[in-house]
Amino acid sequence: MDNCLFCQIAKKEMPANIIYEDDDVIVFDDIHPKAPIHKLIIPKIHIATINDMTHEHKELLGHMIHTAKKIAKKLGIADNGYRLIMNCNTDAGQVVFHIHAHLIGGRSLDWHPG
Ligand code: 5GP
Ligand code: ZN
Repeated sequence: MDNCLFCQIAKKEMPANIIYEDDDVIVFDDIHPKAPIHKLIIPKIHIATINDMTHEHKELLGHMIHTAKKIAKKLGIADNGYRLIMNCNTDAGQVVFHIHAHLIGGRSLDWHPG
């Protein structure tokens, strides 16, 4: 999608600190990190929200989680722990409508999801 920020990052039309890329996903630093480690894992194809996920996307979403796991290990936070978050639509605070998983860690995280 032309006017989608994360499609533009995926196509390298917008700068981002990309730390991992393969055929299907890219991982980059969140511009406003909420913790010492805050990465975003996104698919290269445009899917606006989790509500738009279809049966065909099951493998891709699994690949996003598997990628997060590998990145967490590489960054040294796998054993202490980390959080993976996907916000869907307004009530969850989604502001970029191209699905993404937040990988957050590097410190003890509190839990106030509401
Ligand atoms: P959401 O609230 O949609 O789940 O999260 C969107 C995330 O994208 C936020 O954590 C925000 O800081 C991040 N973000 C927004 N604009 C940019 C940008 O231009 N570059 C990067 N790297 N992250 C962004
Ligand atoms: Zn997009």
